[in-house]
Amino acid sequence: MKGLWTILCFILIWCPAGAQEFKTENVILVTFDGLRWQEVFAGADKKLLRSEKYTPNPDAVKNHFWHHDPQERRKLLMPFFWSNIATQGQLLGNRKHGNKMNLATRHWISYPGYNEMLSGAPDPILKHNRKIHNPNVTVLEWVNQQPGFKGKVAVVGSWNLLPYIVNTERSGITVNAGNSLATGRNLTPEELRLNEQFTQTKPRWHSVRQDTITFQYGMAYLERERPRLLHLAFGETDEHAHEGNYGAYLESIYQSDAMIRQLWEWLQSQEQYRNKTTLIIATDHGRGYLNKLSWKKHGRFWYPGSNHVWAAILGPDTPPAGEVKLRQKNYQYQIAGTIAYFLGLPFRPHQSPDSPPMANP
Ligand SMILES: [Zn+2]
Repeated sequence: MKGLWTILCFILIWCPAGAQEFKTENVILVTFDGLRWQEVFAGADKKLLRSEKYTPNPDAVKNHFWHHDPQERRKLLMPFFWSNIATQGQLLGNRKHGNKMNLATRHWISYPGYNEMLSGAPDPILKHNRKIHNPNVTVLEWVNQQPGFKGKVAVVGSWNLLPYIVNTERSGITVNAGNSLATGRNLTPEELRLNEQFTQTKPRWHSVRQDTITFQYGMAYLERERPRLLHLAFGETDEHAHEGNYGAYLESIYQSDAMIRQLWEWLQSQEQYRNKTTLIIATDHGRGYLNKLSWKKHGRFWYPGSNHVWAAILGPDTPPAGEVKLRQKNYQYQIAGTIAYFLGLPFRPHQSPDSPPMANP
């Protein structure tokens, strides 16, 4: 019977809950901030590469990221996505094939986007990026209360509002975010070194730490605490886009793809994580696309399309469907449900009766 399900799952790319025994014991959620589906699925944008305003050093950027064939072009931008995930996992949200993934919240900015992703439901009250403690219980907080997960859930991220989104006051989840240092009594020599290095460097942005530093803190945390659920939240892409620097936006995507490869290779080298870890990659919101200007920003009314998002999944329980071309629509709030689904836990969001896993896992 299990064999039949496996065949059916492969054909339909969908499995009813409980139909298979999951190997997943750990989930790592990696997020990009404001990375458009357009770049994920088609690579660098020709018009923006040609724009002197947004790409002041076009030759270097073109040499690195341009190819006339979009299938090749996206590989130049995100080699790990389009070599490893495309052959061993799944990529959702290519609207060119009718495979849609949308925000359900009407507010197409970061806090509402992360809230929907993590709490499993949009919340109409959350409209702004403000330092308010999230009234909603996130899947991170909920999983942290389940047997075997206490103290095994953490967030390492670039944006300084993440502690509010996961409500550290109530949830007690460890968060290292924004321009802050690693804290705790049992820091490793690597974390002490990073703290010293970071103290001596002038932060690039006020509210967002550079992703390479976030990544190093994240890897050090993984090695030290061995979490079972970690949210590694990059933030740079949104900053470069708001600054109108398309070349830097692309470089940052490329660099993050390489860091995700490094993370995956490390996970696969560790007994606790090897073939027992599902990696889910997503973004908090999209960006505009209507004209050359609108890629810089996002939000309702003026930037249609910034509610269009995407997701990628790689792990032992995800059939290798690659780029999913089925006509279907998933929602951002299903990510919380998908995380719980892989961990075999029945998460029910506060604001909604259900956060079903995405149709494909
Ligand atoms: Zn933004």
